Amino acid sequence: MSLITVLPEGLYCEQGEFFIDPWRGVDTALITHAHSDHARSGSSHYLATQISEGILKKRLGEGIDLRGVEYGEKIKLGNVWVSFHPAGHVLGSAQIRVEHKDEVWVVSGDYKRCYDPTCALFEVVPCDTFITEATFGLPIYQWQSGQEVCRQIYEWWQSDRDRPSILFCYAFGKAQRILAELRKFTDQPVYVHGAVHVLTEIYRQVGVEMVETIPASEKPRDYKFKGDLILAPPSGHRSSWMKRFQQPQTAFASGWMAVRGARRRRGYERGFVLSDHADWQGLVNTALQTRAKTVYVTHGQSDVLSRYLSETLEINALPLKTLFEGESDI
Ligand SMILES: [Zn+2]
Ligand SMILES: [Zn+2]
Repeated sequence: MSLITVLPEGLYCEQGEFFIDPWRGVDTALITHAHSDHARSGSSHYLATQISEGILKKRLGEGIDLRGVEYGEKIKLGNVWVSFHPAGHVLGSAQIRVEHKDEVWVVSGDYKRCYDPTCALFEVVPCDTFITEATFGLPIYQWQSGQEVCRQIYEWWQSDRDRPSILFCYAFGKAQRILAELRKFTDQPVYVHGAVHVLTEIYRQVGVEMVETIPASEKPRDYKFKGDLILAPPSGHRSSWMKRFQQPQTAFASGWMAVRGARRRRGYERGFVLSDHADWQGLVNTALQTRAKTVYVTHGQSDVLSRYLSETLEINALPLKTLFEGESDI
């Protein structure tokens, strides 16, 4: 029996009458995490982890009807029990477990298996059917630890004390992970773009420890940022915001920096391979550890990962699109 199907609005559980990370406004939306491709506005009722409440409201509006739940807390929706479990992706990120009679499905959302000081560690949740992401589902993707990559970032920053060093990275999740890891190497403050600042403040409010941050906009116009590190979102690159930094050295921190040519194409001097998604081995190990009999694969390399799981590991694995009922152009 299918506990979850795919409708034009997104993943749907009929027995519980809710959607998970719907693409459009629905009645009841369970949200795995606050990244914009998972948390969209327009739904009447939201359920998400308590700890992601601050960021969800910042992004979807203070007025949304949001019920915050603790990790592991079981809630009855219609005929099913649901619970949220740590996904290790960003603050408050969750896998969603759905139980009906003796059947359990888990929707992973985005997840990673590497240690990240800013969020709860991924929890293996045994299930019958696992719906996994596969953003980096190719064997070429193998991550170093966040601490090792942040040591490289620190050395890059220290290598030029005459210019500003601007590091571009996603404002929600990646920036705070870097700020938390940098505590191991320095007590110097780091300057931040406004978009990074608002989210970093929310992380601080829930007790995540990071290096001191100062909004770059608070410095006088003639301040030169010599030898300073500035964190900014990718949208800041080559924007008018950048004009106040003279001849900065630039870098981008992302899992995509593992792709040959990506750094040069985007015009950064340096690339740091740092991802909040599972690498190939992380995806494969997780599918095995859940002991799921069936694995549906979505996001990114769903064909490659599902073929590997079914042909090599003899798991019944399929791209998620095979669950889709209705329009075929998903
Ligand atoms: Zn995400
Ligand atoms: Zn995502």
